[in-house]
Amino acid sequence: MLVYESKLEGTLYQYEKLNQAIRTGRFVRNSVIRAWIDGQVKSRNDAYKYCKILADNPNFPWAKQLNSMARQAHAERAWASVERFYRNCKAKISGKKGFPKFRKYQVRASVEYKTSGWKLSEDRRYLNFTDGFKAGTFKLWGNRDLHFYQLDQIKRVRVVRRHDGYYAQFLINHSREVNKELTGRQVGLDVGLNHFYTDNFGEKVDNPRFLRRDERKIKRLQRRLSKTQKGSKNRSRARNKLGRAHLKVSRRRNDWVCKLAQRVIQSNDLVAIENLRVGNMVKNHCLAKSISDAAWYRFREWLEYFGVVYGVPVIAVNPVYTSQNCSHCGEKVVKTLSTRTHRCPHCGYVADRDENAARNILKSALKAWSTTVGRTECEVSGEIPLCLNLETDRSKGTQGKRKSRQ
Ligand SMILES: [Zn+2]
Repeated sequence: MLVYESKLEGTLYQYEKLNQAIRTGRFVRNSVIRAWIDGQVKSRNDAYKYCKILADNPNFPWAKQLNSMARQAHAERAWASVERFYRNCKAKISGKKGFPKFRKYQVRASVEYKTSGWKLSEDRRYLNFTDGFKAGTFKLWGNRDLHFYQLDQIKRVRVVRRHDGYYAQFLINHSREVNKELTGRQVGLDVGLNHFYTDNFGEKVDNPRFLRRDERKIKRLQRRLSKTQKGSKNRSRARNKLGRAHLKVSRRRNDWVCKLAQRVIQSNDLVAIENLRVGNMVKNHCLAKSISDAAWYRFREWLEYFGVVYGVPVIAVNPVYTSQNCSHCGEKVVKTLSTRTHRCPHCGYVADRDENAARNILKSALKAWSTTVGRTECEVSGEIPLCLNLETDRSKGTQGKRKSRQ
């Protein structure tokens, strides 16, 4: 799946119509959650059926205005959050299970259309919404060319509202594959506070300078917002400014990590990373930390994306003991956060702390890789090369057979 994005240019009246569509999408999602809690909806199919019930209800005239497939798309969103909750319960993860929540109004929100309710113009520069809200035709602003793809490859169209305007996202069914030469390099990456990452060769990539600068800017705007009066015009203006600043930061960050991830994938045959729990990352209130966490999370998403494109496995491993164990002999060497160098008293191995961690990450990724993927392949082929010596000792029959095959 590819996602192309363009900004929508229209009138204030048209934007208000998009707001109504977004609000209705949220209404459908929340209604399905409500019906699930009340026991009316028990399956995905029930969720679809419930869309029809909502549309036929004269108390909710707006529900009918939203395109029927768009209604279904939002029922799917609701059901996805229910399924995630069930999955977490089944997996018995500790802590919160993510009970589906009702969505409140947020500036950043979207409405999702499937293959109907919209129409692209002949030259593909204008997008027309044809459902009951009659939002009309918008000019598309963007640097991507939609001409390259067939119309039936566009599976979904999303309208995303952000602090700086309205955007259309086209989800295109197209699998991207790039042929990559083997590089003979495998890499393990360790995330740190001092550096963006350190790899097992000891190479470090620093956090980009603009993260610090952006952090200062956001802090300033946040202070300004907190000084304004609630419900005042100044407050909404300040909020919009802060929202735009956040947008700018996230775009710049995304651009940087995307390019970095592509470089990492292109120059390696296997990439091992830490499996960081997102739940823990969101909780911290330190701004600098949360910015670098978000960057790291995005980086990982891009690694996984490019991994598929270039055919490079990206393996996430459990981060326990990666910084404590010795990557040379495997013994545990306890050290505090301030100890920057790993010195092993057992084997005498000395390395940078993060480099040692990166080596451990690569090692445990290779281990995980060999026990899952390798094992199934052996079982399928029915041939275990390691047993070759033992078998040939016992019976000469197989020996001859093997020789003739070579
Ligand atoms: Zn050691």
